[in-house]
Formats: sequence, structure tokens, C-alpha cells
Amino acid sequence: MPTFDVSPFVAMKPPATHLVVPITRARVHLSNTMLPVVVIGAVLFDVGCAGVFGFDGTSDSVGWHANGTLRHPAALPQAGDGYVIPAPWRARQSNFGSDELVGLIVRASRAVAEAYPGSQAAVGDLSRHNGGGSVEHKSHQSGRDVDIFYYVADPAGRPEGQGNSMIHFDRNGRAARWSPPQGAAAPARPVPDARFDVRRNWRFICALLRDSDVEVQWIFVQRDLAARLIQQGVADGDDPDLLARALQIIRQPSDAEPHDDHMHVRIYCDPRDRARGCHDHGPVRWWKKRWKYMEAPFGHPSGVDASSALLQVLRTREQMLVGRPRATS
Ligand SMILES: [Zn+2]
Repeated sequence: MPTFDVSPFVAMKPPATHLVVPITRARVHLSNTMLPVVVIGAVLFDVGCAGVFGFDGTSDSVGWHANGTLRHPAALPQAGDGYVIPAPWRARQSNFGSDELVGLIVRASRAVAEAYPGSQAAVGDLSRHNGGGSVEHKSHQSGRDVDIFYYVADPAGRPEGQGNSMIHFDRNGRAARWSPPQGAAAPARPVPDARFDVRRNWRFICALLRDSDVEVQWIFVQRDLAARLIQQGVADGDDPDLLARALQIIRQPSDAEPHDDHMHVRIYCDPRDRARGCHDHGPVRWWKKRWKYMEAPFGHPSGVDASSALLQVLRTREQMLVGRPRATS
């Protein structure tokens, strides 16, 4: 399978005001006879290009993760720089997402491959071409959800490839059994003596959380595996702010599978998609990102200093995740 240059996905959406500014300038210089035309144009453009034409050249995530659609989707190529979509998932044709999600997957996979040369993230389902429901998922409907196979290591901790099937890991991070896609048979061979590759999985998550363009809402991970990830971050001396955010975002969902065979990543609506019907379901948090579309003090009691709030979050969540009794190791 050829490798594609996916660098266009890295681009941000154009500034929101890029169509308004020329019109405003034009009004200064045009004659009175042209003024009505220009004013009409200015009014039209002031309501937003998408409001008039329905399309601003970028994707639209509409609705929410479990009841939504996707317009003008970005397609994640089947293989790229640091990732691959394994064959059984290619056949499902669920490799479509918002521009933001596709760009995020590409950048995070590349970051892991730079840290661990030869690494390839194995990417499962995003959404169908136009989003909406599917037999495989309750969510994944609006182009803002993706399943990522866990990176796998051998018993000595050396990175290994993920192959074509997800693997269920036990509480100690050991491969327990195959997790083939719905409707498909498990591989005939025994499950390998593999481990949850905590280093690469943590690096991938760090890349997601450090991404300057996209805000992650949830990363669903089975809680014992999640504790390993946080412990890796602590051992690596990672930024307490990043750890605090990870502790908020990495969760074992209470109403779904425990996610011991893959991580499920959900991102927030792009700010301008929100204005066109994208809906964030669940907590809306405020982080120090350059977007800053969520105003302070989301996630923090008013009047509370952000850094002390983060420390508080870290302390309480650390007790829940890192400090909880460990299974036998
Ligand atoms: Zn999922």
C-alpha cells in the first residue's frame, strides 16, 4: 500500500474573519453606486461563509458522538508516516473523520515513530463517510471518535507490530486473548506472549494531549492499563500539568466495554463546527491552549487559581488511579 503525504491535514482551519476583512476594506474605497452591492455582500459574509453557502472548505462535525453526521469529511489514508489501517478495518470503510481528528491521528502517530523509529500505530475505526450510526459502534457518528490499537511489546519490552487483530490485555498488561473485529474469526494461532507497550502508548497519548490544534475530550482505557500509563508519565518526569490533564481525560467508561484491547479517543468540536451544530456531550474543560475558545473558569471554581486547581486534581485523581491497590504484578 502506498504511503501518502498527509501534510495538508496538518493545516488549521483558515481564520474566521478571512472573508469579512476584504469586504470591509472595499467599502471604504468604492463609489456610492457600488455601495448597496457591497453592503449586501458584507451582510452576507458577516453571517459567515458557511451560513450562506453551507461549506467553508473544511469538514463539519454535526450533532454529537452518538447521534450525529459528518459533512465534507477528511479521509485518513490507509497507511501513512507512522501508522497503518490494518486490513480487516480497511474493509469497513470507516476511515473518515473531521479535519481535526485526521490531522491529530497523523501527528500523534508521527510523534511516536520519531521517538521509536519503525513504530506504526494501528488505526481502527473513525466514522463512515457521512458519519451516522453503524452496527459496530454506538458512537463514532460525527467524525470525532477513533479507535487505536494498543502498541505492543515483547516480554523484554521491545516494540513489536500490532498485526491485524486487537489483543485483550489483562490487568498486568499481558496479552490475554485475541480481539478480532466484529463478525471476523480470531487468528488461528495462539495469542502471542506480548505486553501492553506502556512507553509507546503513553507517548501516543502525550502527543494527543500536547497537540496545539486539537483538544481531546476523552481517552477510554481500562483502568489498570490507565494506571500504568500515568505511572510511566510520573517516572518520565513529565509536566505535572500534562499529567493532571491525563488524569482527567483517561477513563475507563462505565457504560461500555472496559477498553482493554484498544484506546478510544474522542475530541471536542472545532470551535466553528460548534457554531454550525456540532455538540460536545459531557464535560467541557478549559485548558491552556492557544485556542482558548472555552473561557475560564470552565473546570475550575471561580476565583480559584488555575495552578492550584490543577494540583488538587492531580492529588485526588492520583489517589484514584495511581495510588489504588495494585493487582499482583
Ligand atoms: Zn471506539
